[in-house]
Amino acid sequence: MLYRHRKLDLPHGELHTPVLFPVRNIGKRSSDNTPAYVGTIPEFSAAMINARSIKNREPMWNRLMDGVTLREEMGVPEDTIVFADSGGFDFLSEKPDTTPAETLETQRQLDADIYGTVDVPLSPKNRTEENQRRTEQSIEFALEASDRHHGDAFLLASVHGYDPETIRNSIRYLEKRGDFDGYALGSLIPVRTDYKKVTKLILSARKATNKHLHVYGLGGLVYQPLLLYLGVDSFDSSAFIRSAGNRNYLIPGFGGEEMHEIEEIDRLPCPCPICGQRTLDDIREDRAAFTQHNLWALATELRRFRYMVESGRDIEHYLDLRFQGNEVTKRAYEITKQQVRRLV
Ligand SMILES: [Zn+2]
Repeated sequence: MLYRHRKLDLPHGELHTPVLFPVRNIGKRSSDNTPAYVGTIPEFSAAMINARSIKNREPMWNRLMDGVTLREEMGVPEDTIVFADSGGFDFLSEKPDTTPAETLETQRQLDADIYGTVDVPLSPKNRTEENQRRTEQSIEFALEASDRHHGDAFLLASVHGYDPETIRNSIRYLEKRGDFDGYALGSLIPVRTDYKKVTKLILSARKATNKHLHVYGLGGLVYQPLLLYLGVDSFDSSAFIRSAGNRNYLIPGFGGEEMHEIEEIDRLPCPCPICGQRTLDDIREDRAAFTQHNLWALATELRRFRYMVESGRDIEHYLDLRFQGNEVTKRAYEITKQQVRRLV
């Protein structure tokens, strides 16, 4: 089995993996800001932030430069583990407006625990040569960050590629020439419904390194068990915020449910601290409560998987049951299982 459980020693404390970094939209102008969850869901004492949007949000940045800590600005305890992504996803249509040196400095000023290197994401719509150029650019940026990085924060090289060879070769090249604590795989969101492709790409990264492996953006309810099964150490997601915005209620072991179609019940099928005490109507009207429930759903999915592992259950059997209710995700799991079996 590829699933693994590890412990990272980071500047703000220990982090047990596999772990989800819920995205905290701090600094984003459109911020559907995430409600407080640190301290309410024990295993989510971590967050993913976008270094670029915070830097570009002048009033906030000025407060940070005046001595307010990022964690104060976020309203979370000082021991919260923060992963600062470079904000590369914003460069999908534009050219990067930062350098590896600048981004590292911002990540250091934010006192983040994990730094993602500046990257230029790929798009399935680009020509192959354009994506090739972007892949190489991200590699150069990562090596420059490696040369300049000092200190205890984790440095993860952001890696992109739409074929397994590119990913494998990129990681091996970076491993030889740079000094990284792990790798972070990007550009998977635009191809996320192509489960065969995505699982192949993740497996090629998993095979290429034994170091920490993060997957950007795919930490939703369906992908989470697949990523754990593939041996991914961490992932992040903002899907729980977007889902709440669309009143899409996440049910662990199942999927998202459009809430406006449900009428005649008082209580929701979830015992989390939000749903356990409140009525359906109440929660439906309260977006923050909705978002918090969705995070609890992700936590529950993660807890179930870990429980199955720790209690010695056959994980493939568990996942057979987990995915049997939906033809699309069942197929996704079948494909993943075939790929894993071919490997081990
Ligand atoms: Zn709930």
